[in-house]
Amino acid sequence: MKRIIDTHAHLDHTKDLARVLDSAAQENVAAILAVSEDLQSSKDNLEIKKKFSNSKIFVACGIHPSKAHLIELDACVNLIRENKNELSAIGEIGLDYWYNWVKKNEDKKEEQRKVFIRLIELAKELNLPAAIHSRGAWEDCFDIADKVGIKNCVFHWYSGPVETLKKIIGKGFFISATPSLEYSPEAQKAIKYAPLENTLIETDSPVFYKTKDAAGGFTAEPKDVWRTLKLYCELKNVDSDFALNKFNENAAHVFKMNCV
Ligand SMILES: [Zn+2]
Repeated sequence: MKRIIDTHAHLDHTKDLARVLDSAAQENVAAILAVSEDLQSSKDNLEIKKKFSNSKIFVACGIHPSKAHLIELDACVNLIRENKNELSAIGEIGLDYWYNWVKKNEDKKEEQRKVFIRLIELAKELNLPAAIHSRGAWEDCFDIADKVGIKNCVFHWYSGPVETLKKIIGKGFFISATPSLEYSPEAQKAIKYAPLENTLIETDSPVFYKTKDAAGGFTAEPKDVWRTLKLYCELKNVDSDFALNKFNENAAHVFKMNCV
């Protein structure tokens, strides 16, 4: 029986979670990494892990750059320290300069950097990997991860320039593929360039993805990680079993999700 791992899902934002976890299990999703985006979301994901103990749920706590407020930082650091044995990663953390109101706002960018640096330093201290959101801030994110000297991290849903991607791969860091491979030229370009050895697969569910079929799109669930695998194999022209084995190995390597 083939089994797969979703290395990035927002379970705390998932509607009808019991049903979603059930269909993931039925479709042989062996494990899910639940990533968080702020203090409350981190608490919620820790609760979800306890509540759904039959599902293999791994948890990452952190503050997403779009929610990066210094006011929550100390409490989030404390929560992470108190629960460090429950955690598989720190995330989702990083920087997001995508929108103009951030791009042109030095104070906001500085606040994001302060939050990111504190949390990635904590990841290093606790010997945990980091799940990094880097949209529009790819080079800054790489520089910080490199400077901090984190051992393992993934630049989740990487869609930035190849020059930065070369550095990410050169350091042995990872990027991840999502169902956006169906339509996003930037994601396709990055995934084409990155070796399988440096790639993870995920859904970022419950994100809404466009599709080319009549439905026009769908709200992702962890079971759709199979869709990511299919899109990946078509794009890279690689054997599905071979890629799946490697993705499972990579999830075990980065997040210690040894469950397949
Ligand atoms: Zn995410």
